[in-house]
Amino acid sequence: IVNTNKWRVFLFPFFARGHLIPMTDFANLLSTSHPDIEPTMVVTPGNTKFITSSLGKSNSSTQQPVVQIVTYPFPSIGLKPDVETIGIGKLAESSAIDGAFHMARPGQEQVIQHYKPDAVIADMKFPWIAAIAAELRIPCLFFTCSGSFSILLYRCLSRMRANVVGLHDHVTVLGLPGREIRMPVLELPPFVLAEENNYAQYVERMMKTLGDAFGVVVNTYRGLESEYCKELEKTLARRAYFVGPVSVSCATDQHSVLGRGGEGETGCLRWLDKKEERSVVLVSFGSQSYFRSMQLHELAMGLEESGQNFLWVVRGVDQSEQWMPEGWEERIGDRGLVVRGWAPQVAILAHAAIGAFVTHCGWNSILEGTAAGLPMLTWPLAHDQFINEKLLVDVVGCAARLWEGGERSTTDMKSELVPRTVIAQAVSRFMEPKGEYSSVHCKARELGAVARSVMAEGGNSVSDLSRLISDLIDAMQSNTCQ
Ligand code: UDP
Repeated sequence: IVNTNKWRVFLFPFFARGHLIPMTDFANLLSTSHPDIEPTMVVTPGNTKFITSSLGKSNSSTQQPVVQIVTYPFPSIGLKPDVETIGIGKLAESSAIDGAFHMARPGQEQVIQHYKPDAVIADMKFPWIAAIAAELRIPCLFFTCSGSFSILLYRCLSRMRANVVGLHDHVTVLGLPGREIRMPVLELPPFVLAEENNYAQYVERMMKTLGDAFGVVVNTYRGLESEYCKELEKTLARRAYFVGPVSVSCATDQHSVLGRGGEGETGCLRWLDKKEERSVVLVSFGSQSYFRSMQLHELAMGLEESGQNFLWVVRGVDQSEQWMPEGWEERIGDRGLVVRGWAPQVAILAHAAIGAFVTHCGWNSILEGTAAGLPMLTWPLAHDQFINEKLLVDVVGCAARLWEGGERSTTDMKSELVPRTVIAQAVSRFMEPKGEYSSVHCKARELGAVARSVMAEGGNSVSDLSRLISDLIDAMQSNTCQ
């Protein structure tokens, strides 16, 4: 690590890509926003390569990354070698919390005590880092990879658990500002039903830690969910900074947008170059979700029947590809492209040929979609994705549900198969800009302009980032952590 006279800010991203990516963008932003701040990303060995390819390069001839990297665990702590690939869903199982994630603590503690940074910014899934920072009397901020609406809703749900009775109930979420939010229990995180479980306690702990911390950094923008940002600022955080969508800054850096993951393939961008403006639907479900073969088969048939151009990112399929309907690829020809594995999503979304986005509603995908001004067709699968869908469809109005009927659930085993005809009709109707979804298309374009303006000079998110940096420098200079 380079020894400089700069303020050393250590960032602790959670292991999963949906957390690593926005925090890397944020670290890049920090480093370019103030010459005296030197961010360092503290990551596990399995994520080092991924992150190296995603960091911006300095302008100097050395082309050194402007953000430093420290890798942990130190060999002795026993954090599982494959911790990066353990789904966040596994957190719901108490053994995984204790066995995999809490195991990170000693390694993080060693890093902080060894390097003695001037401040730390940790993913909110590592609430214990606050106590480690407090021992050194350095400021500790938490970075959230979900929006204000979903954080507040989780807080309400952890308080309401006792009132939620049956799996097939609908609940009105108590304690949120603005309009009434009502959701089926099946679409809420499973911890709301359990009388007492570790995950609910973990959520409560996270919320308390957010409130006690020096500040909370939220990857969102006021233009998307202003009422909820205000509420979060008023009732949850000591200091709140809304600095997103952080992907916008990365989208302007070709190196990091294409290098993400080191495997990002660019052939699909050339394929898009040949398509007409707004004529292709991107179908992608994030970095963690996998469909059963049967659902992949229906989706393939649905996309074929829709008659639309599509770019479909398929993850985790087995070699035999039994899901693929016979003769499908020949029939589709050049109308569709399947990307297997990892795609340069931000670059794809920004391409003029993309007209809509079928998304699982991961928070990053949503921010990236709104920043590109794209209307979204929602297909949530787990975690906070149904909550994000609720915000987009019923509050903001820049998206529509792909499927309203049938049983949907945050637990895959309880969800029904979405049939091909539903997919085909939803996609073809949604791609019609002057059709029944014209107001959704309009709202999406409007939001795109807002998202880009908040990240431009003088924009809200840029001023929140400056405020964050100046508050932090004040605290570091005066040696206070509160
Ligand atoms: N992503 C990507 N290429 C892929 C799949 C995902 O670049 O093939 C990125 C995507 O742009 C987003 C992140 O991975 O930044 C996924 O985060 P999100 O919150 O959308 O979903 P999660 O993976 O956490 O479910």
